[in-house]
Amino acid sequence: MGGLLFGCILLAGCSYDFGAWSAESEPKAVIRIQSETDGLSEQEMKDLIASMVAESEGRTEVEPGDVLSEEEIEEIGLGRLFYQSRITDSIFERIDGKSYKEGCPVSRDDLRYLRILHYDFDHNIRAGELICHKALSDDMMDIFLKLYEAEYPIEKVLLVDEYGADDDLSSSDNNTSCFNYRNVSGGSRLSMHAYGAAIDINPLYNPYLTWPGGQLNCAPANGTDYIDRSRDFLYKIDEEDLCYQLFTEAGFSWGGSWQSNPDYMHFSRSVWD
Ligand SMILES: [Zn+2]
Repeated sequence: MGGLLFGCILLAGCSYDFGAWSAESEPKAVIRIQSETDGLSEQEMKDLIASMVAESEGRTEVEPGDVLSEEEIEEIGLGRLFYQSRITDSIFERIDGKSYKEGCPVSRDDLRYLRILHYDFDHNIRAGELICHKALSDDMMDIFLKLYEAEYPIEKVLLVDEYGADDDLSSSDNNTSCFNYRNVSGGSRLSMHAYGAAIDINPLYNPYLTWPGGQLNCAPANGTDYIDRSRDFLYKIDEEDLCYQLFTEAGFSWGGSWQSNPDYMHFSRSVWD
């Protein structure tokens, strides 16, 4: 066990040198781990490393939603507060049967769990979490780091599983979230969220508007004050907004520019390129 532990300590040490957002659990240091892991397949090895790195990261005991002072952040280090990992067993337990249901079109291996920091509406710094497709995770980390540095206000960033994977409950509580195996809101087509390829930012202030049967529908239903986009109000995403600029620069499309059914909270990008 000594060799294995030694290897993981080395790996955990290494991961902080990769930069704040690329501390992914790719096992470059696996070669340093000796005999104890000889019988494992490559995949078993990756899972083992990922879970041990996640556990070592988790030693900060910072939970999603926690408020942190600037002193605490400095003490812990940004690299331990902005990181991504594979979907470890403990993370999978949280999403299994909720956002990750049977028939999900994306494999657990193709998803990444991200921990970030963000400013809330009271200018507190909070820990946040999200799950997205691995093809987007580096850019997502980069964008959230820039939003954090710019002190861009996002009220909550929690897994939709905290709301029983119910998109209405999550968005009406103004929770920002990404992966959820579900159809488009009010439709029968699979959403880009089902692939972890879309994110909804401050959804209460940036609703999704549709006209089923010619009648305007606002999702979330409590976002009706924010339907009129010609009005000035806080947390509005438009083309002047930093979120819009960062996501579109990274190749994401903004749902707010959809002509027929604008979705002002929504940014998505293909994961099949
Ligand atoms: Zn969306």
